[in-house]
Amino acid sequence: MSLDLEIEGLTKRFGETTAVDNLSLTVPAGQLLTLLGPSGCGKTTTLRMVAGLETPDSGRIRLGTQDITELPAYRRGLGMVFQSYALFPHMSVFENVAYGLKNRGLAASEVARRVEAALQRVGLGGLGARPPHTLSGGQQQRVAVARALVLEPPLLLFDEPLSNLDAKLRRSVRAELRALQQELGITALYVTHDQEEALALSDLIAVMNAGRLQQLGTPEEVYRYPANPFVASFIGISSMLSAQAEPREGGVWAHLGGVRLPAFAPKPFGGTALLAVRPEDVRLGEGELLGRVRHVSYLGERLEVHLESPWGPLLAYQPPQARPAPGQEVPFHISWAAAYPA
Ligand code: ATP
Repeated sequence: MSLDLEIEGLTKRFGETTAVDNLSLTVPAGQLLTLLGPSGCGKTTTLRMVAGLETPDSGRIRLGTQDITELPAYRRGLGMVFQSYALFPHMSVFENVAYGLKNRGLAASEVARRVEAALQRVGLGGLGARPPHTLSGGQQQRVAVARALVLEPPLLLFDEPLSNLDAKLRRSVRAELRALQQELGITALYVTHDQEEALALSDLIAVMNAGRLQQLGTPEEVYRYPANPFVASFIGISSMLSAQAEPREGGVWAHLGGVRLPAFAPKPFGGTALLAVRPEDVRLGEGELLGRVRHVSYLGERLEVHLESPWGPLLAYQPPQARPAPGQEVPFHISWAAAYPA
């Protein structure tokens, strides 16, 4: 059975550093919420407080109907998966997964049945007798997941579980993890600094910086409607142009020279603005704005075109067929942008 997790006003200081600053959020039952942010923003400290490995200075943590703020880690019954798989090297895969169950006084046949089911779930059926070091990194991480799942925890905690895998494997394991989490309908709190991983995996993303929550939303919301320039530049790629803003219903008119285009803004405002523009929202070869090509990178499925414009440098993605030359002046059109007071 999965439960919802509620964090309210959580704060943790280490000396002068406020690692987590008055953080509040809810992970609905059965959903996966990712804490995303740069190194040192307080993600791991938050996860460790939920796990019971760190004591908050203030705030509450609730799981289902139970306030677990004061509960010792071992009584929270949560599943954890770490970056370093933390498998016992001298035990077989089976023994690693069975470890937590054995302390629960179950019959050996019941332990064997549950362990084999958990290994099947993560695609490692029949590998129970192997020592962990004979498995690939991806397989070892799946053992760690099976070990967490076998206890049927109400909440799973993931601390950068894919960081030790190479880029290709990371993609396939993350798709498997997401499928498994959805199949089981288990509530999960996931920590990463990798924005692509967060977008691909999550029901909800909590973007953090310097201990503070910057935005909480679905992957689409934080990507399409970033709450501030930090979120706009941390998730995906944004060029930041300087523009003038004029308030309008639901956002602003952004003025670039004599051209006026509608832009999203968290709140309508007027005056000097920062305009965040995604490279996929810039169309080259047509439009009312003019830039000069500085540099073109060929990436196989697309070109990255670096432009110089009167409002600042601008990155545009282009299909590889139409390759502009450095120095060339090109018209361009911006189909979507987000504006913030500068
Ligand atoms: P990373 O991705 O690098 O792990 P993070 O977002 O998980 O970063 P935290 O590990 O939560 O960040 O750290 C947040 C802040 O708290 C940092 O400034 C860190 O140096 C500090 N910090 C964390 N743990 C301790 C500790 N035990 N003692 C002192 N300072 C700590």
